[in-house]
Amino acid sequence: MAAVIRLLRPSSSSSLSLAGRSFSTAVVTEAVKSQTYTQNPAPTAVDPKGRNVQWVFLGCPGVGKGTYASRLSTLLCVPHIATGDLVREELNSGSNLGKQLADIVNQGKLVSDDIIISLLSKRLEAGEGKGESGFILDGFPRTVRQAEILDEVTHIDLVVNLKLPESVLIEKCLGRRICSQCRENFNVASINVKGENGRPGISMAPLLPPPQCVSKLITRADDTEDVVKERLRVYNEKSQPVEDFYRGQGKLLEFDLPGGIQETWPKLLEVLNLDEQDEKQSVAA
Ligand SMILES: [Zn+2]
Repeated sequence: MAAVIRLLRPSSSSSLSLAGRSFSTAVVTEAVKSQTYTQNPAPTAVDPKGRNVQWVFLGCPGVGKGTYASRLSTLLCVPHIATGDLVREELNSGSNLGKQLADIVNQGKLVSDDIIISLLSKRLEAGEGKGESGFILDGFPRTVRQAEILDEVTHIDLVVNLKLPESVLIEKCLGRRICSQCRENFNVASINVKGENGRPGISMAPLLPPPQCVSKLITRADDTEDVVKERLRVYNEKSQPVEDFYRGQGKLLEFDLPGGIQETWPKLLEVLNLDEQDEKQSVAA
């Protein structure tokens, strides 16, 4: 728990309520303000001491955003809130809104910003009631309008943008395989990009299937190069303004993935100023 406790404990002796969400706002606002007026407003490292985790995770399809958001939420004891899950939960709840949502989804329409925001507000309020000390948002906001509305609903203190070069994303998507029998996911792509122009190299080992699955591997119909490229184009077109929005607020942390989970996880903890090792040691002690 050391990482978490370190994170939630302010350095000063001011009174602190773990259930409250507002105790750290002043610190964060000051930090953000000072960043805004410097030459380079982008946060390069994060000092999470003495404040809540109210983070947004951005990243293009295939980058593994959900995986990292979920791992961090476990480490920091804050919920990983994916708006896709909120919509699914409401659909299954049988509520009036759930019925409206079912109509929208069945007609193939997009769920409006207003509905998503109201689901999210409801979720954040419920979390606050339960004493949750923060959140990691995944899949939201997708547009500047959503980002603006989100700013009215809650305070976001950090936006982590996970990045991989397009060539790597394509290779990774084309390497995806599913076992037609046990439905496990694998990846046969072995990625090794040399570092150049000051950028670090990227290496990702394949995730190979066990012998019993090898002959049963299938590829998803939409994992073709054209589909992947189009998916990335659409994503970039929409996400660029959202990134600019948060860059302007001095909250955007750009993170180039150095490889798969094994390579990425320790680096990510480093830039977020977290230490999983501390946690393990303190549990062992
Ligand atoms: Zn299998």
